[in-house]
Amino acid sequence: MRAFIIDGKKIAEDIKAEIKVEVAHLKKQNIIPKLVAVLVGDNPASQVYVRNKGKTCVELGMDNETISMPSDTTEKALLELIHKLNNDSSVSGILIQLPLPKQINESAVINSIAPEKDVDCFHPVNVGKLSIGEPVFLPCTPAGVQELLVRSGIDPAGKHTVIIGRSNIVGKPLANMLIQKAKGANSTVTVCHTGTPDMTYFIKQADIVVAAAGKAQMITGDMIKKGAVVIDVGINRIEDKSTKSGTRLVGDVHFESVKETASAITPVPGGVGPMTIIMLMKNTLQAAKNLQKK
Ligand code: NAD
Repeated sequence: MRAFIIDGKKIAEDIKAEIKVEVAHLKKQNIIPKLVAVLVGDNPASQVYVRNKGKTCVELGMDNETISMPSDTTEKALLELIHKLNNDSSVSGILIQLPLPKQINESAVINSIAPEKDVDCFHPVNVGKLSIGEPVFLPCTPAGVQELLVRSGIDPAGKHTVIIGRSNIVGKPLANMLIQKAKGANSTVTVCHTGTPDMTYFIKQADIVVAAAGKAQMITGDMIKKGAVVIDVGINRIEDKSTKSGTRLVGDVHFESVKETASAITPVPGGVGPMTIIMLMKNTLQAAKNLQKK
């Protein structure tokens, strides 16, 4: 069997076009969604992420602002800025780019964002609402995974989904979403992690495998059931002497072997990555609409 390659770039473009229409519609009512990204320090990867988010806002007709703070910023100064943004009615969504420098407590920062502007869906109120099936926002990467499945005609309902990884950003919220009695969900979910002794035992039973461990090419073709759907969230840089930079990006899935056994698979890059950013845009639009109703 040769797997169908799920094109995350194309699906993200389709959603982009849908969001553009909604943004234009809101503009007629003088509402312009605005995303403010706060970048503390000079982590090069974070700089690239924030720049891409800003560029996507512009493409969609949304306002955006990046606030850069030095790496020795105090927690107090960051909390004061968030307080200001919470109370600024022109701001729809607030994004604090993680990781933060060591002197700043990440939880304290996340907890200080107004839940109605928490477009990353990290605030405990939003995480709680998600888990009881009353989400305000959907967390960006898990929502991207769900959209990839649904828009590729793969309904998780009644299927066994095995997620590898239990982070608060990917594994846990995705499990929470897929077990809901809701459209695009209603799946039987198993979560594997570093405490799982024989991960392959579970993966072999999966109709859908979602790899989010951050371990390069750990899922190989012999580990999965014939015809399974494989979604690769992982982004890992490995050595590759044949490239100019000497490295290349790979997922947590060994693409070449898995594509021979799976029925559908996402590539890295070009799978989940483009979806995460577009889901952030969808949340910013949603935040602007919700704030308008208040
Ligand atoms: P994390 O390090 O916070 O969590 C990884 C999880 O995987 C942990 O819960 C751990 O228990 C589990 N794990 C690690 N090694 C394992 C192993 N050998 N066996 C079983 N479980 C194992 O990472 P994260 O933030 O959830 O990200 C996971 C990966 O996804 C990373 O490669 C990250 O770069 C990528 N990522 C991609 C996107 C995207 O948009 N495509 C977004 C977020 C994260």
